[in-house]
Amino acid sequence: MSDFLALTLAEARDGLYRRDFTARELADAYIEAMAAARALNAYCAETPERALAMAAAADQALAAGNAGPLAGIPLGIKDLFCTKDVLSQASSRILEGFKPRYESTVTANLWRDGAVMLGKTAMDEFAMGSSTETAVTGPVTNPWRGEGSNKNLVPGGSSGGSSAAVAAKIALGATGTDTGGSIRQPAAFTGTVGIKPTYGRCSRWGIIAFASSLDQAGPIARTVRDAAILLKSMAGHDPKDSTSINAPVPDFEAALSGDIRGLKVGIPKEYHTTQMPAEIEALWQQGIAWLKDAGAKIVDVSLPHTQYALATYYIVAPAEASSNLARYDGVRYGLRVNNGGGLHDMYAKTRAAGFGKEVKRRILIGTYVLSAGYYDAYYLKAQQVRTLIARDFAEAFKKVDVLLTPTAPSSAFGIGETTDPIAMYLNDVFTVPASLAGLPAMSLPAGLDKAGLPLGLQLIGKVLDEETVIKVGGVIERAAGFAAQPKPWWRS
Ligand code: GLN
Repeated sequence: MSDFLALTLAEARDGLYRRDFTARELADAYIEAMAAARALNAYCAETPERALAMAAAADQALAAGNAGPLAGIPLGIKDLFCTKDVLSQASSRILEGFKPRYESTVTANLWRDGAVMLGKTAMDEFAMGSSTETAVTGPVTNPWRGEGSNKNLVPGGSSGGSSAAVAAKIALGATGTDTGGSIRQPAAFTGTVGIKPTYGRCSRWGIIAFASSLDQAGPIARTVRDAAILLKSMAGHDPKDSTSINAPVPDFEAALSGDIRGLKVGIPKEYHTTQMPAEIEALWQQGIAWLKDAGAKIVDVSLPHTQYALATYYIVAPAEASSNLARYDGVRYGLRVNNGGGLHDMYAKTRAAGFGKEVKRRILIGTYVLSAGYYDAYYLKAQQVRTLIARDFAEAFKKVDVLLTPTAPSSAFGIGETTDPIAMYLNDVFTVPASLAGLPAMSLPAGLDKAGLPLGLQLIGKVLDEETVIKVGGVIERAAGFAAQPKPWWRS
């Protein structure tokens, strides 16, 4: 076996089961590749010893014939997931040194199935952002560069360490979380596949909370099949999360039948924004043509409240964040700044030193919209609009089985280029509506822009219907034949 890194997750799984190579060999190849790619800054903590121990256990299970479905598969884990005895900081200074004494349900599910942890991947602090520039360990660099350019680009965010790791082949797959687009937009920026499942499909237990009514875990992987395999292990009912859905987890991989004849695909007219670059609009039209060729019926639909989604999200998410982040006060976890000024002084100094600028902005906005006198005008109104947005989708899904849209309004931009917070928030314009409605959605690479950078298309499904999203994604993936790869300039 000459090039382990070139294998997809499905191929590696099958090779391991056939015993063509060992989990140890695969882990060695990834540990070496991870160490040689530090220029990307994708990992904020590497755990090679743990990877080797887990690989040894996988080899034993494979030999004994009782291995799990992910035996020996090396993964990167977003720093938002609590991993027992391993630094879990949400890429924030305020959680400096925090090593949880427990394991998140999603990662526990992956380890139950035999997966191997390579390390923790960097993210925007507390998952607030679209560029992974605010990680306490420094910005993550996208493995992709424009044709003939040396400019460093962002990998998207907030799961940018995960998307960069998968694109650079220093993880076979990775976990992400998506509150308003943090799996899908980084996947689009790095030519990878990302699935945000239905809200409640994956347990939130042990995932550091950002906005609890929106946060959802999901996979980032190289192919639709790989993402489907990971999602199956990650998902499932968890009594420890009261919003976890008690429904059977289908075999998502089996949904990849390739047959979408007669399926109705909705094209929401409100997503044709005037600011959208012509090449993204063109890629969307190409996606429509591919699905038509495969026998799907294309139906124009309307989601009339789309224009309010971004504003609604940027009230609801900060409101919940301001409440969730109240627990970081220097008393229980991580950083403590105490110079003898008393309890309140310690709270204030710890929070002032521990949180970055964007997190502070969200706490201020969230506290404001929840305060007496403004609650009705902002928070309550946002909740009402959120209901209308969810209703738009419910109406559309009376007519169609799935929706097709672009994932993001641009390709990857340069590190340090987007300094205005509102400009950063605009990245989420196509992803937040599905988040507000709790619907499953996927981004998959469908083409390159004129600079040679990946662009993604988004599929949005009905509640708990990840299978249709995956099935249609498989058809687009095959039609697009996306085979471009970033040139490994980062390899040392
Ligand atoms: N970019 C969005 C935000 O900053 C979404 C982040 C996310 O999905 N975690 O809130």
